[in-house]
Amino acid sequence: MTRCFIGLGSNLNDPAKQIRAALAALSAHADIALTHSSSLYRNPAIGPGEQPDYLNAVAEVTTALKPLALLHALQAIETHQGRIRTIHWGARTLDLDLLLFGDETLATAELIVPHPHMTARNFVLYPLFEIAPELVLPDGTSLRALLDCCPDIGLQRL
Ligand code: ATP
Ligand code: CA
Ligand code: CA
Repeated sequence: MTRCFIGLGSNLNDPAKQIRAALAALSAHADIALTHSSSLYRNPAIGPGEQPDYLNAVAEVTTALKPLALLHALQAIETHQGRIRTIHWGARTLDLDLLLFGDETLATAELIVPHPHMTARNFVLYPLFEIAPELVLPDGTSLRALLDCCPDIGLQRL
């Protein structure tokens, strides 16, 4: 079993409901056990144009799936919840990013782990710290040290 962390985000169609439904779907998946989930955090959208605020959260899961199979399970949940892939970083009902897959480091065309932008995103780091304050990334950087470089400006814990 591998301990993994998933970043959840939504800014369309009742984001709180979308995040709760995604957590329920992770929990209901035959090959995934949901072990922890953070509070919800509200934060302003990044990306093109005017967009509603995001709600974000982080979940810890354990799974026997391989990394790509886990990514595909996450994408199936996104699709089930009506995500339509339009413009990059556009508004979406649900975004599930695979942040960490145990201590593994992967870089393929389809999957990069750790997630390449996680270390600079306060809406990932603060919820992650809430559920895994002791966490150390595969390159040896502690989550605590990353937080010190990433202020929680604009981020509101609900
Ligand atoms: P960002 O990756 O900057 O958060 P995004 O979540 O909006 O942007 P998507 O459109 O959801 O990007 O995903 C684009 C592609 O990223 C996916 O098709 C997937 O193959 C790839 N990808 C690479 N690494 C990961 C990862 N760790 N988690 C999720 N998707 C990934
Ligand atoms: Ca994302
Ligand atoms: Ca994504």
